[in-house]
Amino acid sequence: MQTLRDSLRPWGQALANLLFPLDCAACHFPLTASHGSDRLCHSCAQQLTPITPPYCQRCAEPFPADPSLTIVCPNCQNRPTAFDFAFAGYESRGPVRDLIHNFKYNRQLHLRVVLGQLLLKGLDEPRIQARQDWIITPVPLHARKLRDRRFNQALEISRRLHRHTQFPLIPGLRRQRDTTSQATLDRKGRLANLKDAFTLTPQARRQRLFAGRHILLIDDVLTTGATLHECAQVLKKEGQAATVVGLCIARG
Ligand SMILES: [Zn+2]
Ligand SMILES: [Zn+2]
Repeated sequence: MQTLRDSLRPWGQALANLLFPLDCAACHFPLTASHGSDRLCHSCAQQLTPITPPYCQRCAEPFPADPSLTIVCPNCQNRPTAFDFAFAGYESRGPVRDLIHNFKYNRQLHLRVVLGQLLLKGLDEPRIQARQDWIITPVPLHARKLRDRRFNQALEISRRLHRHTQFPLIPGLRRQRDTTSQATLDRKGRLANLKDAFTLTPQARRQRLFAGRHILLIDDVLTTGATLHECAQVLKKEGQAATVVGLCIARG
């Protein structure tokens, strides 16, 4: 005969699942209470490669050098960017890379929780930490791509950042041109491809939402910086933003 205890057990399990997820978001190893609210198992967490000083002060490329040095890499020295600097908490490899891939290309929306959490790592950057008056703006997707993917990965992780920091979240950029996939293009090709791809939303323009403000421009991966550059240009020229900092989960 089923006891009261037996009949309550599924409810207890449901509550336990709510309190901590069943398995690691990256490798599906079962998680226990010792993982707390982390979504990654200890082994996957150990495989994360945070970006630590010294790194290029413009594009966050890590350098094997004295950590006290402030460096701008040769690439950035002869390449002006519209953003003030870009940063990512992690290098794009191992579990981070797999998670981002599954999030974007396998439409695993639930991964926004763990990826949103990983985005927060970038807040450790001293120049980001130095301000408390940021505005969060995600890199937009074109409407057609949004229909295919069903969500904008940059907006999803921006929501987590907004909840954590309470910085206003203003999705005030619009992608007006559907650019072909960037993945096969070099930086020059990407820049040509992205020209005039972005604009302000009518509301951001009308209400001057970015004028004089300091923007954290959010994307999942920082690769050549071409997308961040084009968005930052619009935010500064059309939006009159004072500062634009690119913040991504990972640096490719
Ligand atoms: Zn794992
Ligand atoms: Zn650089």
